[in-house]
Amino acid sequence: MEPVLEIRNLNVEYGLGDKAVRAVRDVNLTLHKGEVLGLAGESGSGKSTLAYGLTRLLAPPGVITGGEVIYHPEQGEAYDVLGLSDRALRAFRWAETAIVFQGAMNSLNPVHKISTQLTDVLKAHEPKMSEHSRNARAREMLKLVGISPDRMDAYPHQLSGGMRQRVMIGMALILQPQVVIMDEPTTALDVVMQRQILGQLIELRERLGFSVIFITHDLSLLVEFSNRIAIMYGGRIVEEAPAATIYRDALHPYSKGLLSSFPALRGPRRELAGIPGSPPDLAGMPSGCSFHPRCPKAFEPCAPHIPVLGRPDTPDGAARSVACWLHPTEQPVG
Ligand code: SF4
Ligand code: MG
Repeated sequence: MEPVLEIRNLNVEYGLGDKAVRAVRDVNLTLHKGEVLGLAGESGSGKSTLAYGLTRLLAPPGVITGGEVIYHPEQGEAYDVLGLSDRALRAFRWAETAIVFQGAMNSLNPVHKISTQLTDVLKAHEPKMSEHSRNARAREMLKLVGISPDRMDAYPHQLSGGMRQRVMIGMALILQPQVVIMDEPTTALDVVMQRQILGQLIELRERLGFSVIFITHDLSLLVEFSNRIAIMYGGRIVEEAPAATIYRDALHPYSKGLLSSFPALRGPRRELAGIPGSPPDLAGMPSGCSFHPRCPKAFEPCAPHIPVLGRPDTPDGAARSVACWLHPTEQPVG
């Protein structure tokens, strides 16, 4: 599969000098064309920071301290998003990579009609487009996300939460980006609505061919809707594999803990064991494997030495990676 976005050794810190804390550590991750890549982890694991970092939307005091984010446009040469000028970056966002934020449905402007908010994105990015075409595209986007174009002239408060979230997804797709990043896109909605919207998004992806990075703490949604899953802990990726592999045969004790925190989709019910203890404090990250104070399997090498993400020595090792001393790895990933 062809890559569309390659994250290489990305590091993000909050603050400067002695006070700086590392929120994203040496992350290597590739998004392929047309796939849904799920990013899971407890809050504070660095998932959102990674998403904001790769689109350069980090609010101060967040700073990217190293790495590359190589983007492969549909036409032309690949380039590093981290090297783009501010102007090029504005064009890149929405048109190449769009992001639907956590609680996005509340970020619609309450005093403007839905139609205005959709066409404003087009006005900013495709100034030569006629008003007629802009309106036609906005109507088409609403239809695509399951909202009757009759609602074009509604104000946000006249729509339900689920509809507002659909409008945001429509807005993210309006310039036909290759990559859509969803940060907890449906957390504020009830479970039925969440599944409905995500199912619809996957269908759209099949039709329109974009790729998705889907971020959530809810691993059950990821197992259902992603092709591959990457698990983050303490700012690092600790395991990455096809969704079915993670579900069936996760290797990292933290992934296993996350899986046991939700009921099984099929088959015998798993015990809701969860993970004892709390996520690490970024300012006081444990040495070695940062999961070691909570890990039921921790042994001698875990506290002093950081395990590197690599291909495990298993028959399906070529398609997965893990960072844990229990699983000897071949070459490092990246
Ligand atoms: Fe547990 Fe050690 Fe593996 Fe970390 S490296 S997950 S502490 S066994
Ligand atoms: Mg978050």
